[in-house]
Amino acid sequence: MPKPIVGLHHVTAIASDPQTNLDFYTEVLGLRFVKRTVNFDDPGTYHFYFGDDAGTPGTILTFFPWAGASRGTPGVGEVTLTAFSVPLSSIDFWEQRLSGYSLPVERSTRFAETVLTFPDPDGMRIEIVGHADAQTPNPSRFAAIPAEHALRGFYGVTLYLRAAEETTKILNLMGFTKRTEEGTRQRFAAEGSALGNHIDLLIHPEGNHGHMGAGTVHHIAFRVEDDADQLEWRDTIGQHLDMTPVQDRTYFHSVYFREPGGVLFELATNPPGFDFDEPIESLGEALRIPPWLEKHRDIIEKRLIPLELHKAKASA
Ligand code: ZN
Repeated sequence: MPKPIVGLHHVTAIASDPQTNLDFYTEVLGLRFVKRTVNFDDPGTYHFYFGDDAGTPGTILTFFPWAGASRGTPGVGEVTLTAFSVPLSSIDFWEQRLSGYSLPVERSTRFAETVLTFPDPDGMRIEIVGHADAQTPNPSRFAAIPAEHALRGFYGVTLYLRAAEETTKILNLMGFTKRTEEGTRQRFAAEGSALGNHIDLLIHPEGNHGHMGAGTVHHIAFRVEDDADQLEWRDTIGQHLDMTPVQDRTYFHSVYFREPGGVLFELATNPPGFDFDEPIESLGEALRIPPWLEKHRDIIEKRLIPLELHKAKASA
């Protein structure tokens, strides 16, 4: 058997205006901009990666920001909530901070944990979960947030589905077992308390299908140790579902499959990592493009919307 899957690697979503997206995640939520690159399939548009200071797998939220993209509608077969982890003692700080940006913040209790739910600028629903097992932070060196309150990376995600049974089989195969349920929500978790180890299923048999667009999650990736492990998992899950070939995403290697409930899953390797093509000190500062696109760099740079990074720092 391959080594266990312990949690998420990244979550990838769609946004509209690139600068608005960049400002929200770096300045309001205090994440580090760990990679400024392009959509490999559409190199005239960006692919943004946000995370902790080092771009650690399990902390990575990525976006395809398309200027002028219309808003999507979340629905069945999609991830409808993306949750970050903080200690319980940081919840009041975050509630005040988000309210200070005039964001509508809902505070609730779920499975005895405190949850803040709020929209990002494209209406994507983000959560901050306060709980006892929050990891030690590795906060962005540019964040204007006290280190003890920094987002720790992912707590987990919520999948919105019509039925749980077939998705449960795949989650079980991947090492996530059902821990508890509350109303229409079932909680699955991997062993241990690693980043992003919670997968919740929200079951609505009559739920509507959504459509992709700004503010919706495109896919979620689980982390695997290395290439050998990824191939073993590809074989294991491939006995039940169709798997893509391995694809080189420069900072990790990927295999994709659609779980039976309709959500696109990925297995992403921990290496090579985000310091593969630039030092940790200057992550995100310059446009990085894969070698096969370098010859088109001039055209790509002309087509991309210019960005302003570290606005808060510049004006402080
Ligand atoms: Zn991905």
